[in-house]
Amino acid sequence: MKIGFFKTRFIIYIVALTVIGGFLFNFLLTRQSVIMYDYFIEKPTTYNLERAERLANSIYQSFKQEVPSPPSLPAVQSFIKKYNDIPFLSVNFIYRDDAGLMKSVLEDVKEIDILSAEYVYPIRYGNREIGTLLIYDINKEYKRGLEEYSQMLKVTRLFFIILLFLLLSILIYREYSAKIEHAKKLAEYQAVHDGLTGLYTQKYFKEHLEREISRSQRYNRPLSLIMCDIDFFKKFNDTHGHLAGDEVLKRVSRMIQDNVRASDIVARYGGEEFAILLLEAGIEEARSVAKRLRTITDKAVDVAGRIKDTIEQTPIKFEGKELNVTLSMGVASFDGNEKYKPEFLISDADHALYQSKENGRNQITLFDPESKQYTKVG
Ligand code: GH3
Ligand code: MG
Ligand code: MG
Repeated sequence: MKIGFFKTRFIIYIVALTVIGGFLFNFLLTRQSVIMYDYFIEKPTTYNLERAERLANSIYQSFKQEVPSPPSLPAVQSFIKKYNDIPFLSVNFIYRDDAGLMKSVLEDVKEIDILSAEYVYPIRYGNREIGTLLIYDINKEYKRGLEEYSQMLKVTRLFFIILLFLLLSILIYREYSAKIEHAKKLAEYQAVHDGLTGLYTQKYFKEHLEREISRSQRYNRPLSLIMCDIDFFKKFNDTHGHLAGDEVLKRVSRMIQDNVRASDIVARYGGEEFAILLLEAGIEEARSVAKRLRTITDKAVDVAGRIKDTIEQTPIKFEGKELNVTLSMGVASFDGNEKYKPEFLISDADHALYQSKENGRNQITLFDPESKQYTKVG
């Protein structure tokens, strides 16, 4: 759910930044092109369509008067040259040569230029059409140029906005993928750790116990479980408040962890209940299973004793008060035999814990699977 949230934020960021970046870019580009127009493009004086049309018409009339019949090429050329000096208009003349090919009296004129003339006058002498007078309106060309320029501007804008979008996507994706990775790790951690105490959750503990039991069965390797429960904790909460209770849970968890090895598993099994799984480590393989079982059980009793004493003797400071709690504990071990199930170990340790409660609390009871006896060991 968290990751989905990040994705939505990611998209919102990209869109927002692209829109802002796009606007900014547009603004700068527009400013720049205004400056370009002012400095580099020579603008014709005020444009007047009617005037251009009148002028074009009078040039056409002049052609008929000034170019004698039958027209010769040099006469047309000198006419064109003369009228090309007029501002705002440019003049051309096209005709078919003897071979029937289209020719222009001006050199280097492309077909597209011929087609783009604003005013076209077929020139006839009697019944014979000798060619076409083309008059171009420079103002219109200028306008066309402007349109092309702004078209190009639009394409450039679009291109830069897409580029900006891609760049931002890459940048933000890099940042967000790191965040998503972090969120994933946090979610993984939170899935197996209790929020208040930081200890493993009951679910994780049970999965781990199952794995360890089957490993123990494979290698014939004993392990021990200590179940702990804070004494009269309901009363403690009633007397000192829930926040004080929470503080105690945190401190007790810390004291338990301080008295076990890093390889041992400590879990918050319930509200004020803790489970400690001690794995056999550093016990020589050569010894018999019975001896190894004894060793791990002794070790568990020893660890339980240390935890019980530490908690009993360490006052917990909360809002200026010094508070004390005690623990009841039950210890049970598993010798690695094949028919065993994880629930048996939990239930054995739980029964031992129950005995500690029954017999007055603040004590440790050990369950012996051989004799099915419960013994107070601390
Ligand atoms: P006993 O000695 O028999 O264990 O008595 P108890 O009062 O400790 O046992 P009980 O099971 O009756 O009450 C457990 C109490 O633990 C009840 C609940 O208010 C408290 N508790 C459970 N979880 C939390 C927690 O997260 N914070 C706090 N402050 N109290 C909690
Ligand atoms: Mg309790
Ligand atoms: Mg309880």
